[in-house]
Amino acid sequence: MKNLDQRNQIIEYSLKLNSTNLSPLRSGNISLRGIEDDTEGYLITPSGKKYETLKPEDIVFMGLNEEEKNDSTNKPSSEWRFHRDIYKNKKEAQAIVHAHSPHATAVSSHGKSVPPFHYMIALAGGDNIKCAEYATFGTEELSKNVIKALENRSACLMSNHGQVAFGKNLEDAFELAQEIENICHQYTIALKLGQPKIISFEEMKKVLDKAKNYKKG
Ligand code: 13P
Ligand code: ZN
Repeated sequence: MKNLDQRNQIIEYSLKLNSTNLSPLRSGNISLRGIEDDTEGYLITPSGKKYETLKPEDIVFMGLNEEEKNDSTNKPSSEWRFHRDIYKNKKEAQAIVHAHSPHATAVSSHGKSVPPFHYMIALAGGDNIKCAEYATFGTEELSKNVIKALENRSACLMSNHGQVAFGKNLEDAFELAQEIENICHQYTIALKLGQPKIISFEEMKKVLDKAKNYKKG
């Protein structure tokens, strides 16, 4: 089978979506940039299938310029549009994780960006985590809103829906989605105590410079 290693990797991380409580049952979706038959595109989880039942042949390859597949047995995630648009807009994106993680989703329902109440906000690439405006799942409009919220960022919330993160590989994208969930968990606790103190713009600039050399493996 073509791209078998990548297909197995997507299944491994789909199962992790469930086991780490980042996204239950069949919610969320995962993709990896890839090439099949000389066509540039991405491999993506199928729509509406429980992760625990996934087999390599269920993972769908989509060309970057391909529209929805007509083959009903081979249906890509309903969110293939924002996966495609992230790969088109972000040359550094090699893998994408979309999750309905509980705290990120709760915070997303407020439709606001998360301010720098903690310096780890820098992991998303700037001094806040932006929130994409609400649009129906699986639409071009949602994809446009996600791309806007990902301007100068590698992760964002999606209003009344969840979160999306990308990285240089699947491990990286998944880890970032876990960090976003943790930050949103902390933020919900902080909000219960009142309005948290926010780190200044100047201090976040320093943090962003330091954060470039933070990860060591
Ligand atoms: P899919 O099963 O079509 O990927 O849908 C899950 C989801 O999270 C939609 O936003
Ligand atoms: Zn979703």
